[in-house]
Amino acid sequence: MMTSVTFPGGMCLPALGMGTWALGDRAERRAQEIASLRLGLDRGLRVIDTAEMYGAGRSERLVGEAIAGRRDEVFLVTKILPSNASRAGVAERCRASLRRLGTDRIDLYLLHWRGGVPLEETVGAFEQLKREGLIGAWGVSNFDIGDLDDLARVAAPGACAANQILYSLDYRGVEFDLLEADRRRAIVTMAYSPLGQGGDLLRQPVLQRIAGEHETSLGPATPAQVALAWVLRQPGMLAIPKAGSPDHQRENVAATELVLTQHDLDAIDRSIPPPRRKVPLAMI
Ligand code: NDP
Repeated sequence: MMTSVTFPGGMCLPALGMGTWALGDRAERRAQEIASLRLGLDRGLRVIDTAEMYGAGRSERLVGEAIAGRRDEVFLVTKILPSNASRAGVAERCRASLRRLGTDRIDLYLLHWRGGVPLEETVGAFEQLKREGLIGAWGVSNFDIGDLDDLARVAAPGACAANQILYSLDYRGVEFDLLEADRRRAIVTMAYSPLGQGGDLLRQPVLQRIAGEHETSLGPATPAQVALAWVLRQPGMLAIPKAGSPDHQRENVAATELVLTQHDLDAIDRSIPPPRRKVPLAMI
């Protein structure tokens, strides 16, 4: 049974979603990238995360193609660049994203990171999009504690649905305070780059050892599955790994079968200790 995450307003979604950064950048990978997203939907995933920034619209276009004819199965998330997040910019860029995505509604629209436009203006523009029915909800990304405090001064309680942040075994700093701050404000935390972008993290001996002690329906577990199961152990956490191939997508879905033991978690803590003090939010 895949764990689920409940958004303000009651929408309940599988805790595993799909990232799409760099999808659509290489013509020779396009078919398998689309197949990967469709396989995720076939296996019950709902959340697809993209952004106007990714490939200057190429990722949104690829997502649009992947979900054509199956829009109702998807909880669609995209993001606006901070430099576009003025009142007029939000109205215009949202419509441009909708066109590329081939739909008339974005389920969750995020401010990609905090920029120079006053939060009050961006929030006002997001609320206007909600009233017009172009978005279902709005949220933020890369917001640390102080940013959430500032946001709370200009947005109604419960208005911000999500905070998408860097969270993986490479970046545990947010465990000190930010995860709890999101929970306290009923903001869903979305973990981006949960696989450490497929880099050195997946070669950590501790992950290899733990993987060797677990199985999924696909066979022996892999370090990537352990890294993902570790992120998903957090209650209310939505993780959005990017899988550019059906094989990786299948493996990531099977990671939701893994239940890490206390023994596994202790071994991870010894190798990659949790934070003992405030760590400023990192960003990729
Ligand atoms: P991830 O941590 O998701 O890692 C993606 C890499 O891991 C790719 O190279 C992928 O390869 C590989 N991979 C995927 N599944 C497996 C597997 N089962 N075994 C081994 N390798 C695997 O990095 P991302 O940076 O892509 O983060 C995920 C998503 O989060 C992004 O795509 C984007 O949607 C979002 N994001 C948001 C940011 C923000 O500022 N809000 C910033 C960064 C990311 P392959 O493609 O070949 O499958």
